[in-house]
Amino acid sequence: MVLSYPAGAAPIEDKLNIDVVTLEERQESKRRIINEYDKNITFTVKSGGSLGAYAYKWDLNGDGTRDSGAWESGGGAIKTVKYSAAASGAGKVQLLCETANRRKVYNISVALNDQFILSKNIRVALGCYVGTPLGGGTTPQGRDAEIQNTFSWNNTTPIAFDNTGQGYGRAEQEQIQQLYGSSSYTIRTINDNNRIFYALDQSNRIAATLRTGCVRDRKNFGTNRGILVYASYLTNIPWDHNFTREALTVTVEHEAKHCRQFLEAKENNPTNNVYRLLDEHYVPTWGDAGYNNVVLFLESETHLQELNDKNIDFYHYVQGNQELQIFNTKYSDSRDLLDKIQNNPDLKNKAKLFLQNIYNSMPFDEMKKGDYEFNVRPPM
Ligand SMILES: [Zn+2]
Repeated sequence: MVLSYPAGAAPIEDKLNIDVVTLEERQESKRRIINEYDKNITFTVKSGGSLGAYAYKWDLNGDGTRDSGAWESGGGAIKTVKYSAAASGAGKVQLLCETANRRKVYNISVALNDQFILSKNIRVALGCYVGTPLGGGTTPQGRDAEIQNTFSWNNTTPIAFDNTGQGYGRAEQEQIQQLYGSSSYTIRTINDNNRIFYALDQSNRIAATLRTGCVRDRKNFGTNRGILVYASYLTNIPWDHNFTREALTVTVEHEAKHCRQFLEAKENNPTNNVYRLLDEHYVPTWGDAGYNNVVLFLESETHLQELNDKNIDFYHYVQGNQELQIFNTKYSDSRDLLDKIQNNPDLKNKAKLFLQNIYNSMPFDEMKKGDYEFNVRPPM
């Protein structure tokens, strides 16, 4: 930029050199909201170069000092490092798999010419869950006992559940036993306060909430027959994927939220709440496909709840349960559905508000930035 001052035949001019510099990180060429364990992260100082070359001094372990080890020595505009269990050295910083590091954030910075400092916080997940190991061993009985001992679900907690005897047949104890038990594994009697239980082999499902009916049924069969909510179950996956107690708890909280969503729809309280309106809009005409649409909205909210739970490991978000990716899909699909809602202004307004609240409650700013993997856009 040239600044000029008119001074007769020879204006006074001065040249102001401006350089815009930014610090960018990438892992496997992606910008990640949460970086994975034991994989290189490349930090790059981007510069227009108008000021010539800089001298760079890096802090890559976030201890506030530069040149604190081989991983920081040498000064270029690009630095690559991985965070893993290995001892710190050239190209690596030690990050131990222990509870204190389950949500590790590093303040990375680089000094340019010892004067100007660029810094940013990056998140790095561990390579596994850390925390309280799950009990219960390998048998369904043992795992069911672990559930029973850990979560205090009963007939009125977390919601007032329905009596299985009211159902359509599918929800009878006998059917529950058929679907989720075996000849050697007897499911506890649901109505005896056993509102969360261990279920056998549910083909890659982690957990689910057992409910039946919908508003369509309420209309067709009378007031006793609408949405009925019986119980939630957990499957083998938490045990087979080395969940901790903390990871199991966040999963159970997810199901508890589903119970509350279904209850609001069932009781229509508050009147014409979004769950009720979704159910009435999609299910009666579209059947199962309509119900799948409802689920997208419900899951956007429950997966956001997991992302907002500060007790759970970053590992759960990127690898353990891929929460960032799942949330991205459910929310984005719901957002697309919102565009298509017609002739139902009440639902359109409430569903938009529902998604706006979700968008505003997302825990990581990068979720809103277009160059990050799994970013999402606000509802239109
Ligand atoms: Zn769910």
